[in-house]
Amino acid sequence: MQALNKLNYIYHSMPQDLEARQYDVLIVGAGPAGCACALTLKDAGLKVALLDKATFPRDKVCGDAIPGRAIKTLKSISPAYEDAFRKFANKCATRQTAIHYKGRSVTFKWVGEAYTCTRMEFDNFLFSLVKEHTDTAIYTDTLPHSFIQDNGGFSITSKNSDLVFHSRILVGADGAQSAVAKKLANRTLDRQHHVGSVRAYFKNVANLDPGTTEIYFDKKFLPSYLWVFPLPGNMANVGFGMLSSEIAKKKINLKTTFYDFVDQNPALKLRFRDATQTGDLEGFGLPLGSRITTLSGNHFMLVGDAASLIDPFSGDGIGNAMLSGKLAAEQAVHCFKADNFTAPLMSGYDRALTGMLGKELRARHKAQRTLSKMPFLLDTIFTACRSNSIKRIIQKGL
Ligand SMILES: Cc1cc2nc3c(=O)[nH]c(=O)nc-3n(C[C@H](O)[C@H](O)[C@H](O)COP(=O)(O)OP(=O)(O)OC[C@H]3O[C@@H](n4cnc5c(N)ncnc54)[C@H](O)[C@@H]3O)c2cc1C
Repeated sequence: MQALNKLNYIYHSMPQDLEARQYDVLIVGAGPAGCACALTLKDAGLKVALLDKATFPRDKVCGDAIPGRAIKTLKSISPAYEDAFRKFANKCATRQTAIHYKGRSVTFKWVGEAYTCTRMEFDNFLFSLVKEHTDTAIYTDTLPHSFIQDNGGFSITSKNSDLVFHSRILVGADGAQSAVAKKLANRTLDRQHHVGSVRAYFKNVANLDPGTTEIYFDKKFLPSYLWVFPLPGNMANVGFGMLSSEIAKKKINLKTTFYDFVDQNPALKLRFRDATQTGDLEGFGLPLGSRITTLSGNHFMLVGDAASLIDPFSGDGIGNAMLSGKLAAEQAVHCFKADNFTAPLMSGYDRALTGMLGKELRARHKAQRTLSKMPFLLDTIFTACRSNSIKRIIQKGL
C-alpha cells in the first residue's frame, strides 16, 4: 500500500483545454458494488457520479444466484430497496441446493433466503434504483482512459468522449478486470486465486425445480463443479469453473470440458437431451478473496471484484460486492467529515471490510483447499448425510 502513496500513476496527460466536471465521489463501474455504493451515498450531501463503459441493461457472465447477503445489504441501505426487490417479479426464490456426486445426491435446505435472477435483470434493477432514487450523475457508455492523481484527488479522462472528471475520492467498482485496480494497485492476475469459468443458458432442462440450485461434482475436477441454476420461464443457467492454475497446468479447454461434463454424466445427459442452449457459452474470470490485496490508498478505494472478494468455495461474489460498496460509501462520508483523504484514514475501509469478511473468506479458502487435497471427503460427507443430525450440522457449516 505504501507504494501507492507515491504519486506515481500518471499515465496520460490530461487535455488542458477541457473543464473538469467536479465530484466528491466518482464510482467507476455500475455493477452491484458500484450501485450499492451510490445508493448508500444518497442523502450524504456529497456530489456523486457513477460511470460505466456499458449501457444498461447489460449482461454479466455469472451463475445468476443472488445470495442472501445481497438482499440483507440492500435492506441495510434502505428497507424501501429491499421492498422493491421483493416486488421485482423476474426471480426464483431458491430454498435448497442438491449436490450430485457419483450418481448419488443429497439436498441441503438453506437457513437464509436466496434467489436466482439473470444479471441482465438484477443489475438493471439496482441501476434503476440509483437512477430513480438518488441524485447521482450517471455516465454510461463512458470508458475511463487515464487516472491522474493530484493533491485534491483524481482527474479522469474518458476514452470515447471528451469528458474530463475530477473527484476527491475515486471508487474502483469496475469488476474482475478492473482498470482502476491495475492502475492504482498494480493488480495482476494470480492464477492460484482466480477461477476461469464458462456459462450458458438452456431452456427445457428436464426435472428442473425452480426452488433448487444444483451442483454436480466429478472426481476428475474436484473441488470444481458444474452448476445448474433454475431461472423463471423454465430456463437454467448452467456453468463450470476451475482454478486458473489448474486450467493452465492441465491445459484444460473449459468449453470442451463443459460439454463433455454434461455428455459423460448419465443423469445430466438424460436431463439435457431435449434442452436447447439459447445464446453462446461465454467465459469470464472470478478473482477470489483468498489472497490479501490492496483495498485502498490516497483518495481511492476498491470494491467488489475489483477488490477480489469472491467466496473461494462457492464462487458467490454479488453479496460481498454490495457489502464492500456500502462500506466504501460509509468510509467516504467519514473522510469528508474529517476532510482527510490520505491512505491511513482511508484504510478504515480495509479494516471494516476485513472485519466483516476476513474470517469467513479464510475459512472458505481452507474448505476449498481441503476438498482439492482430500477429494475422498466428499464420499465421507455423502455417507455421513445418511444421518439427519449429521446432515444438519454440515448444513449449518455450508
Ligand atoms: C461464471 C461466473 C459465475 C458466477 N456466479 C455467481 C453467482 O451465482 N452468485 C454470485 O453471487 N456471484 C457469482 N459470480 C461472481 C459475481 O459475478 C461477481 O462477484 C459480481 O458481479 C461482482 O460485482 P461487481 O459490481 O464488483 O462487478 P461487475 O458485476 O463485474 O460490474 C462491474 C461493472 O463495471 C463496468 N466496467 C468494467 N470495466 C470498466 C471500465 N474500465 N470502465 C468503466 N466501467 C467498467 C462493467 O460494465 C460492469 O457494469 C460469478 C462470476 C462468474 C464469472
